[in-house]
Amino acid sequence: MSEKFSGSRREFHRVAIGLALAGMAAPLWARPQSAPRWMSNPFALGVASGQPRPDSVVLWTRLVPSLADAAISGSALPVKHEIFADAELRRPVMRGETVTDASRAHSVHVIARGLQPQRDYWYRFTCGDAVSAVGHTRTAPAEDAAVQRMRFALVSCQHYEQGYYTAHREIAGRDLDFVLFVGDYIYEGGASAPLVRRHGARPPHTLDEYRVRHALYKSDADLQAAHAAHPWIVTWDDHEVVNDYANDRDPAYTDPAVFLRRRAAAYQAYFEHMPLALPPQGASMRIHDRYVWGRLAELWTLDCRQYRSHHACPGAKRDSNRSLRETACAELSDPARTMLGADQERWIDQGLAGSTRRWKLIGQSTQMSATGIETPEGRKVWTDGWDGYPEARRRFLQGVANAGVGDLVVLGGDVHRHVAANLRVRPNDPDSPVIASEFVCTSISSSGSSRASMERLRRDNPDVKHARGDERGYAYVELTPERMQCELRATSHPVRQDSVFSTQADFVVEAGRPGVQDA
Ligand code: FE
Ligand code: CA
Repeated sequence: MSEKFSGSRREFHRVAIGLALAGMAAPLWARPQSAPRWMSNPFALGVASGQPRPDSVVLWTRLVPSLADAAISGSALPVKHEIFADAELRRPVMRGETVTDASRAHSVHVIARGLQPQRDYWYRFTCGDAVSAVGHTRTAPAEDAAVQRMRFALVSCQHYEQGYYTAHREIAGRDLDFVLFVGDYIYEGGASAPLVRRHGARPPHTLDEYRVRHALYKSDADLQAAHAAHPWIVTWDDHEVVNDYANDRDPAYTDPAVFLRRRAAAYQAYFEHMPLALPPQGASMRIHDRYVWGRLAELWTLDCRQYRSHHACPGAKRDSNRSLRETACAELSDPARTMLGADQERWIDQGLAGSTRRWKLIGQSTQMSATGIETPEGRKVWTDGWDGYPEARRRFLQGVANAGVGDLVVLGGDVHRHVAANLRVRPNDPDSPVIASEFVCTSISSSGSSRASMERLRRDNPDVKHARGDERGYAYVELTPERMQCELRATSHPVRQDSVFSTQADFVVEAGRPGVQDA
């Protein structure tokens, strides 16, 4: 835990005195009898905000009482939040109190309503004599505002064992409207080299085990800094539960009733550690969502895991190899197979068709453009991604084409490589017009594929204009009414604690002209 994020009694008194000097009455909780007195600061996982709307934002923290504070942690705890209009915390905007307890891992989710659009706010939490770090957040612009600029970071895949979160350090220092995280926030499984640190536990199955895993990830100072600096908009991929799961099936074909209990535990722990408003209902959790950025942009986040059809043509070893010959699997062309599920598919189709914003952005977990490889036996595809759901992809893109949806950019992660690509109803077919653009961000830390394999991917998929998996990083995106710029930020692998980032490639999409172009 860094100095910056530690709350001490002395710091608390300094803050209280500061408020008094600023002309405010001393806070009501300055000396309450019932307020806990902590042996160590329970706000060890930092603070976060998310789901930015024109008038609201979700504030998050979680108390992690140490063993020395076990007596306190058994009871319900009152956690106060304060929101300010300035970084010096001199101009209070609102305050309130939430009661939390062990049943929700002492997590706190505050939906702060009644805020002004497109404003910066600072916030913190207190519990007894403990004070959290100060977070910064920003609301979305009014839905009819003529917004001239929007900036965000596109982020995914942060295996704790395979690297440090130096990318988050850079993200924390940037002026952004939000961070868009598209999946693999935690990894349930261990990794092969490079190993810079260890999970120190078996893959989680129970709620307690998922909580421990999330807390380990959130103990990282750089990750805490990126959460404290910006609101986050999040969706998930597979590793938040288990690698390559599909709906109610895990790669080991565990009895679905047993697997859904694991999924429920994973979703509950995910909720407890994220700035989200809606908790799961058992093994179900609504994560897909919609955001509006004035008249400039509309952003949909998708859930590509919970409702998808099972993988096509699993091999005898089931999970050992998801790469297969297209022609050897008739199931791939079954139109009943879905990536999003019927309800979410209808929701996104209607949302896109009805949108009146300039830019239509989709944040989803994996790569949508085709990535099959030609082999002497025929074209081989990876069936966990959109290539494994080609009819669902065709249906989605045909809907986009039929509705005349322009200025659509699909944003993804999962594949641990920076990608810039064009999207057509029939992938890689020059007779099928380019109708949308795609950017995929490489991983924060999870290892990726060689330059040679990415050259091969590009050779066999002309729609993919850029693909590099040998570097780690994130994508910086800036939108104006005229164009979208995407800077692929990267550092060489393996990630070092002192690594610096540079721009691996720079692309633009011009309004009214689908497809990616060199900047
Ligand atoms: Fe990943
Ligand atoms: Ca993944």
